[in-house]
Amino acid sequence: MGWEEGFRCGGASRVRNGQTHSAPIFEVVDGPDQDPMVDAMAGNEHHEVIIIGAGVAGIYQIKRLADLGVDAIVLDSGGDLGGTWYWNRYPGARFDSESYTYGYSFSKELLDEWHWKEAFSSQPENLKYLNHVADKFDLRRYMQFDCRVEAAHFHEDENRWHVFTSDGRELTARFVVMALGLLSAPTMPRIEGVEDFEGESFHTFHWPHEPVALEGKRVGIIGTGATAIQAIPVMAEEAAELTVFQRRPNWAAPLNNYAISDETMADIRARYDEIFATCARTPGGFEHEPDRRGFWEVTRAEREAMWTRLYAEPGFGIWLRNFTEIFTDEKANAEFSAWFANRIRERVHDPELAEKLIPRDHGVGVQRLPLETNYFEAYNRGNVHLVDVSETPIERITRTGIRTSVGDHHLDVIVYATGFDAITGSFDRIDIRGTGGRTLREKWRDGPSTFFGMLVHGFPNLVMPTGPQSCSASTNFPRGIEIGVDWVTDLLEFMWANGHVRAEATREAEREWTEHVTQMYAAMLLRKARSWFTGYNSNVDGHEAGNVRYLVYTGGTPKFVKKISEMTRNGYTGITFESGLSSAAADAAAGARRAG
Ligand code: NAP
Repeated sequence: MGWEEGFRCGGASRVRNGQTHSAPIFEVVDGPDQDPMVDAMAGNEHHEVIIIGAGVAGIYQIKRLADLGVDAIVLDSGGDLGGTWYWNRYPGARFDSESYTYGYSFSKELLDEWHWKEAFSSQPENLKYLNHVADKFDLRRYMQFDCRVEAAHFHEDENRWHVFTSDGRELTARFVVMALGLLSAPTMPRIEGVEDFEGESFHTFHWPHEPVALEGKRVGIIGTGATAIQAIPVMAEEAAELTVFQRRPNWAAPLNNYAISDETMADIRARYDEIFATCARTPGGFEHEPDRRGFWEVTRAEREAMWTRLYAEPGFGIWLRNFTEIFTDEKANAEFSAWFANRIRERVHDPELAEKLIPRDHGVGVQRLPLETNYFEAYNRGNVHLVDVSETPIERITRTGIRTSVGDHHLDVIVYATGFDAITGSFDRIDIRGTGGRTLREKWRDGPSTFFGMLVHGFPNLVMPTGPQSCSASTNFPRGIEIGVDWVTDLLEFMWANGHVRAEATREAEREWTEHVTQMYAAMLLRKARSWFTGYNSNVDGHEAGNVRYLVYTGGTPKFVKKISEMTRNGYTGITFESGLSSAAADAAAGARRAG
C-alpha cells in the first residue's frame, strides 16, 4: 500500500478490510451490546475504538485491534503517520536508544527483514521503518490524517465517548485510546516579538518538510536541551554563523554511533530474544544494566576507569550502566559530575567557554542525559558563538533577530529548540470531559493522577497505553509502549468477553497509585531537577520550577510490570466494570432522544 492511501480528515472512513461500508459496522465476536441503528439515526460515525495518535504507540495499538477484527480507527493531526518521527525533522534528529532495541518486538518476520543501518538511526530512516510496519501489516487503511481531535466528551447515559474533530465531525466510540505521545506538545518561549521576525523561524518540532538551506546564513538557536544538542553540530557545519542562546547548560555524553554491517545485523537478529529479555529486566528498558557494586565499595581509581570506558562506548551506558548511587546519593553524583566536567574541559579549547558549558545547578543524569556527536567540539569552530542568556537575558525578538540586554544579534533564521509541555500537555490541548462534565485539564491542573498511568477516575473507557505515571515515559519508549498497548488490549478483550461496556478506575485505586509514584520520586535526585521529568517548563503557567509534577514512573519497568500484572491477575482490582445490559437500554433511549 502506498503512502497516500490513508485518509484525510473527513474523507471516507467507514472502512474495514479494504471495503467502504455505507452503514456502521461492528465486528467483535461476542462483543457487548451494539445497536448500529442508534448511530445511523443520530448521524454519527461510530466505532468501537478510536485511537488518537498514529505514532509508535498508535501503530501498534491498531495492529493489535485489527488482528482481533475490532472496528477501530486512528485519528492523527499530522499529515501522515509516525508521530515524533513524522514531526521532528530538524538536522541531526536521531535515536539515542540503540535502533535494534527501539524497533517493535512483536513480529519475528519484521525483526528478520528489517536492517537497521546505524546503531542510532536517523529520523528519515526511523520514519521509513514506521511506514514499512504500517504497510506490511496493512494498517494505513484505519488511519485518518490532518485530523485534529479538539474535544472528547463522555456521555454517561450511553457509556460512550463523543469525539469532535477539527473538520466539524462528531464521532462516537465505546473506547478512546490516547496514544498522544509523550513529547508532542511543543512550547514556544514567552518572549515578546516572536511574530515580528522577518526571516525564517520555526520550533524544531515543526521543522519544515522541505529542506531548509542554511548555507551562508546567520542562524540563531534558543535552547540547549537534547534536541539542540543534536542539531547544533550539524547546523554548525552548514550555517555561515551559528549563535547559541543558552540559558542553562546541559550535561551530554558521546553517542558513539556506528554503522551496522550485514554481519552485525545478522548477529543482532540471532540475539533478538536475548536482547528483548535484557531490556525487560533492566529499569530503563535498554540493554544497559546498572552496576550493582556499591559506589563506595570500589576505589575511586576503579570508578574513574569504568567511567572512562563507558564514555567511549555507544549509547546510554555512561548513564545507565553506572552505579545506582548516581541517581540517589548527592556525594556520589557530585564526584561523577566533577569527573564529567573535566571531559568538557578537555574537549572545549577556550577555558572560559568550557566553564560556561558546565552545568552548576544539577548533577549528571538527574535530568534526561542528552547524547551527542561533536557537540562540544562545535564550540571550537570559528563560526559558532555562545550567548549566555542567564548573564545577558533575551529582551525581545526583533524584525531582524534577537535582542539581549547588551545588544542585537542580526539573524536570517531563528530555531526554537525550547522543548515541550511534556506528557500532560497533549492531553491539555484536547477538551476532555468525563463524568459530570469535569475536564481532565482541570483535574490534572496541579499534576496528573492516574491508575497505573492507564486509567483515570471520572473518565471511564478512556485508556492510555503511554499515559503519565506509566512506565513508558521513563523507559526506552517502544519497550514501554508495547507493555502499555498489550495491557490495554487485554483489558478491552476482557471487557468484550464479559459483556462489559464501562471500565473506570476507582478514586481510591487512583489515589494509591499516584501516591506510590510520588513516593518513588522521593529517593531520586531527579526530583530536584528542572526538567520535563518533574514537569518543569518555564513557558507554561503553573509548570515553573518548584511545582513538581509527578509525570513518570521512576520505579523501573520490571517493578511496574510486576505490579500491573498482579493487579490484572487479581481480577483488575481497582477497576469497576459495568455490564452491557443497562447500557443497551440507555443506547436505545439516547438514540430515540437524538432521533426525536
Ligand atoms: P528540553 O530538554 O526541555 O530543552 C529546552 C531548552 O530550551 C532548554 O535548554 C531550555 O532552557 C531552553 N528554553 C526554553 N524556554 C526558553 C526561554 N524562554 N528562553 C531561553 N531558553 C529557553 O527540550 P528538548 O531539547 O526538545 O528535549 C526534550 C526531550 O525530548 C528530551 O529530554 C528527550 O527525552 C527527548 N528527545 C529525544 C531525542 C532522542 O531520542 N534522540 C532527541 C531530542 C529530544 P532551560 O534549561 O534553562 O529551561
